[in-house]
Formats: sequence, C-alpha cells, structure tokens
Amino acid sequence: MPSTFAHAIVPSSCLTLSLAARLTHKQRWHLLLVAVFLGNSPDLDLIPAFLFPAHFDSIHRNFGHNLFSIMLLCWLGAWLLRRYVSCDFAGARGWGWSIVCVTSHLFLDCMCGADPDGIRYGCPLFWPLSSGQWLLPWPIFPSYSINLELHPLLAFVTSRSFWHCALFSELGYSAVIICAWFTLIKAVKRLEKLAKKCQSTFERTSRVE
Ligand SMILES: [Zn+2]
Repeated sequence: MPSTFAHAIVPSSCLTLSLAARLTHKQRWHLLLVAVFLGNSPDLDLIPAFLFPAHFDSIHRNFGHNLFSIMLLCWLGAWLLRRYVSCDFAGARGWGWSIVCVTSHLFLDCMCGADPDGIRYGCPLFWPLSSGQWLLPWPIFPSYSINLELHPLLAFVTSRSFWHCALFSELGYSAVIICAWFTLIKAVKRLEKLAKKCQSTFERTSRVE
C-alpha cells in the first residue's frame, strides 16, 4: 500500500509543477506544505487506529477514506489554500486544487496490491452505508509483511519490507504518475494556445468579410 512518502510526493509535485510559476517563493513553500498535508489527510484516521490497536482494521480506511469525510477534507483544503497560500485560491480554484490533492490519496490507495491471502484492499467510498472496496485495475503498490504481534505503529516502523517498498518501488511509481500529470498539463496548455489562435484567426477573418 502507498506510504506517507508517496502520498506526500504525488500531490505536492503535481501542484508545484502546475502552479509554482505564478507564486512567490514563500507561497510556493506554503503550497508544498499544504499539499503534503492534504495528500496524507485521509490517513488521519490512523491516529485513532493507533490509539485503539484492537480495532485498527475497522477504524483505518473506513473513517478517513469515505466520501463524507473526503468532502470535509476538501473543504478544509480549500480553506487552507486560501488562508495560507494565496487569496487567488478563493472559490472554485481553491476547491478544485483541494479536490486534486485529497483525491490523489484515494487514487493511490485504490492501486494497492494483494495481501499474502490474495485480498486487495482499496477505499470504502460509501462507508458506513457499504463497506465495499473500490479498486483500480493496476495493483502497483505491493502490500508489506508486518509482525502482527506488535503494536501496529511499531509493526510498520520495524518492517523491512515497508521501508524497502516505500523507498524504492513507490518512489519509482510516484515518478511515473508525476510525469503523466506533467504531460497532461503540457497537452492542456498546448490545446488552450491552439484554441486561442483559432479564435483570433476566426475573428480576423470575420472582420475582413
Ligand atoms: Zn490511505
């Protein structure tokens, strides 16, 4: 499953690549911090899960990865972007970028590989109405083997496979996703330029006629 690092790198890189040119140095740093927080925000449900380890599986993912809490986090993100990055993020622009950051988390979590029992866990988007897991057909993030006898936090921190996946395979896949985003942004900008060119040519032609 994607770690904190992947959830931080993907949205912060995508936002910085898309918006950095229009921001001051200080605003860029604030944008980076807000994007890292929002990219990880659905995993805030790990706090109660670590506090009540006996209920870890029923708390983590269910509480933070459903549509109701995602809407709340998107609202929080829009407010943080407007308050701490720039007032340019007021209204739809702030909401749009906040949705990109928060849903990047779900996008990555829905690409988890199967655990040792062959079961894939994604996002229970309609929890508590339904605990059905939503998944994407690309299981690129492998699951970790952890010592189930330890406290969940200790089990993750001491898991060799966690650190191996987080520091090697996840960074590679994150880089691929960021490159895909960069290509998409470039393509959209090119299309915008082309549309403007066509519009001005059309206006000139209709004026001559
Ligand atoms: Zn998650």
